[in-house]
Amino acid sequence: VLIVGAGLSGLSLARSLASRGVPFKLFDAWPESRRPGYSLTLHPASLSPLLETLRAEPATFRASVAVAGTGNLGGIVDALTGEPVGSATGGVPGSFRANRFRLREWLREGVEVRFDHKLVGLEAAGRFTSGGVIAKFENGESVEGCLLVGADGVHSTVRNIVFPTVRPSILSTVVYNGQRRIPRPGFDSNLGPHFYSHTYIIGLCGRGGASVLSVGINDISAERVDLSWTYSRPAQEGDDALHRPTRGIGEAREIPNALWEELSALGPLRPPFDAVADPELARGDRINHWLMRSVRISREELAERAAGNAPVVLVGDAAHAMPIFRGEGGNHALLDGVELADAIAQHGAGSDALRVFYERATPRWEVSI
Ligand SMILES: Cc1cc2nc3c(=O)[nH]c(=O)nc-3n(C[C@H](O)[C@H](O)[C@H](O)COP(=O)(O)OP(=O)(O)OC[C@H]3O[C@@H](n4cnc5c(N)ncnc54)[C@H](O)[C@@H]3O)c2cc1C
Repeated sequence: VLIVGAGLSGLSLARSLASRGVPFKLFDAWPESRRPGYSLTLHPASLSPLLETLRAEPATFRASVAVAGTGNLGGIVDALTGEPVGSATGGVPGSFRANRFRLREWLREGVEVRFDHKLVGLEAAGRFTSGGVIAKFENGESVEGCLLVGADGVHSTVRNIVFPTVRPSILSTVVYNGQRRIPRPGFDSNLGPHFYSHTYIIGLCGRGGASVLSVGINDISAERVDLSWTYSRPAQEGDDALHRPTRGIGEAREIPNALWEELSALGPLRPPFDAVADPELARGDRINHWLMRSVRISREELAERAAGNAPVVLVGDAAHAMPIFRGEGGNHALLDGVELADAIAQHGAGSDALRVFYERATPRWEVSI
C-alpha cells in the first residue's frame, strides 16, 4: 500500500496497517524538519477506535499530546460581557485540545516516513494480478504498489490527477488567524488568569454575535506561551475588503487595513479577547488570511475510480475538506485511517476493500461537510 501524505490520515492509516501486519510505504512532500504549529480539538468518537486499534491507553495518550498537559476546553462566552453562552465542544464530554506537533510525533512512533517525496504523477502498473499503481515523485523516484492512498490534504495532488474536474469550493466566510509568542512570566501575570485553566475559548462579539474571536494556547513552556487567535464572520454581500476568495497562495500574509479597523470596532472586549483584538498588539503577530475550502465528491465517483485496475483511494482532507469551525476535519482524518486499514485487513488491498471503506465512511463525511 502506497500512502501519499504523512499528515493525520496518512499516519493513522500507517499505524493501523502496521498493527495488522499489512506492508506499506509512506511518503511526504515536506522535509522532516517542518513543524506543524497549531492545536486542534480531538473528540472521543474518533480517538477511541484509533486507540483501541493501537492498544494505547487513553489517559497516557492524552498526557502525551494535550496542550498544557490538560487540553481543557473552555466554553463559548459573550466577549463583551464575559457571560457563558454555550459549550466549545458542542457538549461532547472528553474532547480536548492536542498540540499538532506532539500528535504527529506520537503517531509517527515506529513508522518510517519517506520525507522529501513529493508526488507529481501516477501510472497504472501491470505487475500484480489486480493491476497496480506506480507513484512518481519529484525527486525522480518511482515506486510501485497494489493500491495508492491519497492522504495529501486539502490541496491534494492525487485528487487533482484522479478527479481533475473537482475543485474545492471557497466559502463566503472571512477568517484571519494570528500567532503570538508571549514570554511565560508576562502571560502568567497578565493573560493567563483569564483562561481559567482552559486552553481554548471562543468569544462572540459584534454584529449580533455573528463575529467570532477564538483564542487558544498552542504550546506552553517555562519560557514562553504560543497563542493562536482566529477572527471570523460571514462575508458581506457586495464589497467586503476582508473577503478575498480569489487571492493567490502567496498573498495570504497581505493584511488589509480594514482588519485593524474592524478589530478596533469590536470592543471594549473582556480579557483575554481585548488583548488579541488590540490592533497595536495584533500588528506584531504573524497573521494569515485563511480561505475556508470545502471538497465534496460523490460516493459513486469515488467508487468508480476505486474499482479500476490501478486502484486509488482518497482519505482525509483530500476526500472531504471542510471548514475548521466544527473542529472535525482532523477527527475524520484519524478515523479514515483506522477504517481503511480495517477494510484492507479484511478484504485485501484492492477494490473490494475500497468499496467497503467508502460505504462506511462517506455518510459520516457528508454530515460534516
Ligand atoms: C489551524 C487549524 C485548526 C484546525 N483545528 C481543527 C480541530 O480543532 N479539529 C479538527 O478535527 N480538525 C482541525 N483542523 C483540520 C485538520 O488539521 C485537518 O482536517 C487534518 O489535518 C487533515 O488531515 P489530512 O491527513 O487529510 O491532511 P494533512 O494533515 O494536511 O496532511 C497532508 C500531508 O500531505 C502532504 N502532501 C501534500 N501534498 C503532497 C504531495 N504532492 N506528495 C506527498 N505529500 C504531500 C503534506 O505535506 C502533509 O503532510 C484544523 C486545521 C487547521 C489548519
